[in-house]
Amino acid sequence: MEDYGLSVWGDNNFSIEGDTVNILYGNNPSLLDITKNIRDMGYRGPILLRFPHLIKKQIDSLFQEFYRAKNEFEYQGDFKAVFPLKVNQYPSFIHSLLDVSSEYNYGLEAGSKAELIIAMALTPKGAPITVNGFKDREMISLAFIAAKGGHNITLTIEGINELETILEVDKEFNKDDTNRVTPNIGMRIRLHSSGIGVWAKSGGYGSKFGLTSTELLEAYEMLKKENLVDKFAMIHFHIGSQMSEIAPLKKALREAGNIYAELKRRGANGLRAINIGGGLAVEYSQHKANANRNYSIKEFANDVVFLMQEISKSKGVEEPDIYTESGRFIASSHTVLIAPVLELFSQEYNERSLRLKENNPPLIQELYDLYNSISRHNAREYLHDALDHMESLLTLFDLGYIDLEDRSNSEILVNLIIKKAISLLENEDSQEMKRLQDRIEERYLVNFSIFQSLPDFWGLGQNFPVMPISKLSSRPTRSASIWDITCDSDGEIAFDAKAPLLLHDVDVKKEEYFLAFFLTGAYQEVLGMRHNLFTHPTEVTVKFNENGDYFFENIIEAQNLMDVLDDLDYDTGKIDKALKTLIDESSLIDDTQKQELLGKLYLYLSENSYLKTIIAENYDRGI
Ligand SMILES: *Cc1c(COP(=O)(O)O)cnc(C)c1O
Repeated sequence: MEDYGLSVWGDNNFSIEGDTVNILYGNNPSLLDITKNIRDMGYRGPILLRFPHLIKKQIDSLFQEFYRAKNEFEYQGDFKAVFPLKVNQYPSFIHSLLDVSSEYNYGLEAGSKAELIIAMALTPKGAPITVNGFKDREMISLAFIAAKGGHNITLTIEGINELETILEVDKEFNKDDTNRVTPNIGMRIRLHSSGIGVWAKSGGYGSKFGLTSTELLEAYEMLKKENLVDKFAMIHFHIGSQMSEIAPLKKALREAGNIYAELKRRGANGLRAINIGGGLAVEYSQHKANANRNYSIKEFANDVVFLMQEISKSKGVEEPDIYTESGRFIASSHTVLIAPVLELFSQEYNERSLRLKENNPPLIQELYDLYNSISRHNAREYLHDALDHMESLLTLFDLGYIDLEDRSNSEILVNLIIKKAISLLENEDSQEMKRLQDRIEERYLVNFSIFQSLPDFWGLGQNFPVMPISKLSSRPTRSASIWDITCDSDGEIAFDAKAPLLLHDVDVKKEEYFLAFFLTGAYQEVLGMRHNLFTHPTEVTVKFNENGDYFFENIIEAQNLMDVLDDLDYDTGKIDKALKTLIDESSLIDDTQKQELLGKLYLYLSENSYLKTIIAENYDRGI
């Protein structure tokens, strides 16, 4: 049975039960059942499902592993974590995140003013807020307002000039020295060791962020002069996202740990935390051979705690609180994008479509005979003959010797012969067979936009696990490439013989066939672009009650056409008027027809950009 690599990337969140892929939670509903229920409510196009229980699972796993490591090593510092908002700021996600993490005092990390406002408004009092990235006077002032409101907030400085601004803002906000309230100050260090992978530039000397040792010492002196050393609470680094190996992290921890210890020994009395940033990787691969990471969360927690302890002991300083800002690890598994297949492009390659004549050109006749007599022992030979004939027939067409119908017949016959040969030679794993898989690949047109829903596939070549949500007990036979509905040739996930995706042969006019894309909960939603004006898909939060039954919350429908135009700052009033005038003043139609057309037009304007998939039997019923 094809399991689409569930055992590699699935993390025991899903399992295949008979025909369907089911959620290993509550009463184990299938994704198909959930999808049908949502579509029965009238929603069409792609649907983004959110599962808060999977957010909770990741947060539990992060905290429990660090708590365990702390106990095992008898580590004296605390473990704390914040969620970096840039990974996913969507309210349905953030509200669920805060909801399921209340027992841990989990906080938020902000990298811009808008994110800081979210953090100030939603972080529970006492839970940490960290602020990274470049800041101006206004952003720093916002952090002072948060601190004065009682938030536990740390401003991580990226350069000396930010510290200068903080000192100025401090004077402005704390004119009266007896009641001095300021945010904690963290310093991002520019590591000598660099990150790895695509995001390597987040760390290392060439990094966009952080202070050199010279700047660190300078900053420390400035704080001392202003009597603010007590507020210097945190050392921070972040070596980049999706770390495939643990070794670079260990190097960075040694470097940062020693910087922490050195500053402590210098008299940084308020310094009590080391913030190791994010970077915990997620396994996206559907094929074991292409696995994305070589460590577990357990190993990660052990290494961090052990190294911090070792360094603190050898330098005789107290063990720091450990902060993490893992985002991808927390958010990616919580969404599943479900998208309907609209069409299989080469489905017309079947016997019924042949237009054979009474007298066919000899090569066509020969192809027809090959097709009818191909068998296991002659499959390879006949296949080669067919490919050879195809070349000749195309040349004959170019020279004007055969017509379009002949050409169509040869395309169909050769396609059918390749398919038959592949199934006859099923047990052969030759290079040639792999190449042929490519040649008869089926193009599945899918009702979604790669630019909107999988931007990292487009931008970084990041693969996401994909599988159908039905028919899973039958063998998929078609090597598949996936095409989205944008008018952009980049909107394609090509067939890859090294990591083949096989899908089922379905007649989508008769039965619905949906693909699910997994692990899309980190970065994809906000990076998603409205290329061709396709918008964020309809989203639904799926929760479970005490009996294990699922229910829906926060259904947010994809934006309608006029709202999309409004977002681009079109004057929708004018557009509305122009459309109305177009119909009203038309001399081609009478008044009754005008009414009818306007009715239709306004109905369409109230809907989203995605295509409507309705299978034939439902047309009459209008659903
Ligand atoms: C992006 C970012 C993170 C999150 O990284 P993940 O790889 O998603 O865990 C954490 N900290 C900082 C400073 C970041 O810029």
